[in-house]
Amino acid sequence: MVLRRGVVCPFCGCLCDDLEVEVEDGRIVSTKNACPVSRSKFLSHAEDRARPMVGGREVSVEEAIEEAARILREADFPLIYGLSSTESDAQRMAVRLAELTGASLDNTSSTCHGPTVLAAQECGAVKCTLGEVKNRADLIVFWGCNPAEAHIRHPIRYSITPAGMYRQGKKERFVVHVDVRETRTSKMVNQFVKVQMGRDYELLSALRAAVRGYEVKEAAGVPGEVIKGLAERMKGCRFGIIFFGMGLTMSRGKNLNIDAALRLVRDLNEHTKFLIMPMRGHFNVSGANEVLTWLTGYPFALNFSRGYPVYNPGEFSAVDLLSREECDAALILASDPAAHFPAAAVRHLASIPTVVIDPKVSLTSKLARVVIPSAIAGIECEGTAYRMDGVPLRLKRIVDSPYLPDREILERIIERVGG
Ligand code: SF4
Repeated sequence: MVLRRGVVCPFCGCLCDDLEVEVEDGRIVSTKNACPVSRSKFLSHAEDRARPMVGGREVSVEEAIEEAARILREADFPLIYGLSSTESDAQRMAVRLAELTGASLDNTSSTCHGPTVLAAQECGAVKCTLGEVKNRADLIVFWGCNPAEAHIRHPIRYSITPAGMYRQGKKERFVVHVDVRETRTSKMVNQFVKVQMGRDYELLSALRAAVRGYEVKEAAGVPGEVIKGLAERMKGCRFGIIFFGMGLTMSRGKNLNIDAALRLVRDLNEHTKFLIMPMRGHFNVSGANEVLTWLTGYPFALNFSRGYPVYNPGEFSAVDLLSREECDAALILASDPAAHFPAAAVRHLASIPTVVIDPKVSLTSKLARVVIPSAIAGIECEGTAYRMDGVPLRLKRIVDSPYLPDREILERIIERVGG
């Protein structure tokens, strides 16, 4: 039995780095400190593995790689999509492949926190690390997110209950949850504020007005005295933070909601220290934005068909390209768009030659022409991932694997396409 300590969990944007994993005869047999989601994923990592396939026939990995290269070489307008559930070297290789093939390149942030990126480009964002939140925050606002179910250890490791350097657990923090309905997160907080569906922008704007001293009677179903009380609490705290999720990014208003939230935080910094952070879901979706930005200047939704990167969300985002039936081949890396995209996009994905690189069988792998199985980053191969606050952490290899890492599969495809 081998005990691995300080393991980084590769299953959500929290990237908890205090896991302990026991390995016996090359299999993971137990975990410590992992949340239920993480534990089940570690223990079942060997189940439902994809097999190398071409046209529904099982082949060798080399044959599948050869066919993937042929498809991308012959395509006029290919799409490369996914990237958020793999490590950063593989993301780097995906950029290289997109450049070589003149492809459109998009990651999953175009369907989650893309609006956050757009808003931050407009007006900037006041940021910090999760460590600073743990050590200093005395006011925490969760807006349009549900960490109790989606980022299970976030409240105990970073936000609500951890004993920090200057804040000792929940008794020294005030926690607010703003959402359209009560969830398990609402039960962990001091105050729940119910906002009417699709009216977050109105409430954020009302809060900005209240922070500036204007009288607000009511906004988005929230009484004026609640808005005034929250504004005063925000101005009066020592270190406040808003954590926001897809309830804000993917509801009516999208990037304008985030724009209003970023400007609210900017206004609050005239009175106190206030920060804001997106609750990123996939474990390395922050890394996907970082890597694409270093290499191309743009975080998602770009196209290389002119020989240089062109950025245009809405034109080069995967959902739009597929729904308009513009791409004639696709490579999906560590993602399952068939399970999440609108029907028109999935229909087109099923009608074009699609290559899937993924450790597991998925809906997308079932409709793909080529499937290339890969090692699971953070369990079967190492790599770098970026936590939701932008801090890079090194993922460990816990067990040996017969599968190739994503980066190596992409390198082999690049050799064949480029050669
Ligand atoms: S909260 Fe996220 S990173 Fe932490 S153990 Fe659970 S799945 Fe893993």
